Amino acid sequence: DKPVLVIGGGLAGSEACWQLAQRGVPVTLIEMRPTRKTDAHHTDGFAELVCSNSFRSDDPEGNAVGLLHEEMRRAGSLILTMGDRAKVPAGGALAVDRDEFSGLVTKALTDHPLITIERTEVEALPDPDDWDSVIAATGPLTSAALTQSILDVTGEAQLAFFDAIAPIVHFDSINLERAWFQSRYDKSTDGGDGKDYINCPMDEAQYNAFIDALINGEKTEFKEWEKNTPYFEGCLPIEVMAERGRETLRFGPMKPVGLTDPHSDARPYAVVQLRQDNKLGTLYNIVGFQTKLKYGAQTEVFRSIPGLENAEFARLGGIHRNTFLNSPRLLDPVLRLKARSSIRFAGQVTGVEGYIESAAIGLLAGRFAAEERLGLTPSRPPVTTALGGLLEHITGGAAEETFQPMNVNFGLFPGLPGDETKKTRKRGRDRKAALSARALEELGVWLDGSSRAAAA
Ligand code: FAD
Repeated sequence: DKPVLVIGGGLAGSEACWQLAQRGVPVTLIEMRPTRKTDAHHTDGFAELVCSNSFRSDDPEGNAVGLLHEEMRRAGSLILTMGDRAKVPAGGALAVDRDEFSGLVTKALTDHPLITIERTEVEALPDPDDWDSVIAATGPLTSAALTQSILDVTGEAQLAFFDAIAPIVHFDSINLERAWFQSRYDKSTDGGDGKDYINCPMDEAQYNAFIDALINGEKTEFKEWEKNTPYFEGCLPIEVMAERGRETLRFGPMKPVGLTDPHSDARPYAVVQLRQDNKLGTLYNIVGFQTKLKYGAQTEVFRSIPGLENAEFARLGGIHRNTFLNSPRLLDPVLRLKARSSIRFAGQVTGVEGYIESAAIGLLAGRFAAEERLGLTPSRPPVTTALGGLLEHITGGAAEETFQPMNVNFGLFPGLPGDETKKTRKRGRDRKAALSARALEELGVWLDGSSRAAAA
């Protein structure tokens, strides 16, 4: 009775293990930490969040990632169950205490009788004869040896590009005589008081000086082989945004809307926001401030922000590698490698972007591998759901030639009845709500069908 092998105990691998084990399938999980570290992970826990502590919007009607949360909850997701348990205040978003969250996931996997855990680096795609099947969920920082093996098996030339990390500040070093607590438009999570963020105001002169400092600050040098590596648009370093235009940040992470400075009558010209990073409320991350400025430059530039004059940094920003496959070219509709169908991929390495998207693909890979193991045909979620839309995008919807990592969004969903004419086409919030209602209804049918097939 061979187990399924899952490589990598990140967001996707943890979720895949859970889906398999909950269906009665034995799993071996091999994680290389702490034997071998990555450039971004700091612990040996499973599902460690390497940057922001936010799973983004938790609103299923207004936001596709909120819908994905809800679909995953209904599909029995480990990541969402533990995310909900480790929740911290974050406006309309689902953010978590990262240590508590990872601790809960680690305990659930360690305690499961059908999951065996090994701690070592897998250096090559494994021999299919040794396992029922394999799920490779090694993430954006897949080790070099395994990356080479993937290149060899797929015949691809390159898998890597870059993302950047935002800094974290100690709460007690923030000057609340300049900064203040407030969520944009006072919007809060359930039971919140509309004060989930700390805001640091800037006037026009301060903003302009800040932009100059970002542009002129010393950056991490690129190595020769990194020079042609493109940034992912959703995770641009702050200085790259600044270089694109003086106003770019004021219309992005530093927009001053929905906020009133209680210390002054003046409307801020720009605002830097910090979001709670741990349950204790001792750490706050600077929202949207991923950067490749050198550490010395970061400390100097970020301390020029009013309210952060004396900021102490728990972690500074950084730059990191990402690794992803050209999935539309290399994977079949149920995430198997076309060149070797005993191997599935899951998570960020399949070309989705984000914690939740990665976990979602882990959830699907786990379900598909379990169904196969139980003698069933793997059942894909309808393309009208967030899970199905994302899967469809990476396994066929996106063009091979221009394939780039993708966040879940309503643009991935097929049209609605009434789209035929301008007059009947739904727009804005109505459209999102209609897409969401259809998704949840069709998800329910799919989930029922899958559980009936498994029970038969
Ligand atoms: P991971 O969570 O990275 O898990 C992969 C696991 O595989 C790791 O534990 C690793 O140690 C292990 N592994 C790698 N190679 C091997 C091997 N050969 N053998 C055994 N084990 C191996 N997304 C967001 O939504 N918000 C963010 O703020 C954000 N910031 C990011 C910052 C950084 C620095 C990086 C790298 C990515 C960031 N992402 C962010 C993108 C992405 O969503 C996360 O990286 C997410 O963790 C991906 O989940 P995953 O399961 O695919 O990979």
